[in-house]
Amino acid sequence: MKTAILLLALIPAVLSTDQLSRHEEPFNADSALVKFGALCSGNPSNTKRGCDKYGCGKYGASRDGGKRKHMGLDIVCSDGATVYAPFDVTLNGRAIPYKKDNAINNGLNLKGEGLCFKLFYMKPDKVTGKVKKGGKIGTLLPMQKVYPGITSHIHVQMCDKSDPTKYF
Ligand code: ZN
Repeated sequence: MKTAILLLALIPAVLSTDQLSRHEEPFNADSALVKFGALCSGNPSNTKRGCDKYGCGKYGASRDGGKRKHMGLDIVCSDGATVYAPFDVTLNGRAIPYKKDNAINNGLNLKGEGLCFKLFYMKPDKVTGKVKKGGKIGTLLPMQKVYPGITSHIHVQMCDKSDPTKYF
């Protein structure tokens, strides 16, 4: 009986030590196993954009009639949806998708879980500081105004332009 109580008392200490060591590591050796939590309200399982008249949402999809490739992955997200931190993140400034400005030309640079990535087409609440997993980081901009009939989405792009699909 005394042993059981002692073990129970030890559990919180073990858990907090584990969390501390995770946060102290700048890069996670198991980053291939990191999975994004929900990015947008209304899409708790991070459903990916399929294909619509503007193209497909997968990484490497054709753009501009084959002149370039889609360097990110599109996750379904309604215009005006709340955008969440997919895990504990550090905000690393604004990301601007287009050279020519339009109504959805805004986004965020983020780091977390050893990953460096960008989110496009969202209005950030702020562009510096830290946000816990599931915390609000912004709002999806009015994509239907720029691309009527498109599957509204948030664009996830790794800083090194590698394929983010394995993290979903
Ligand atoms: Zn995209």
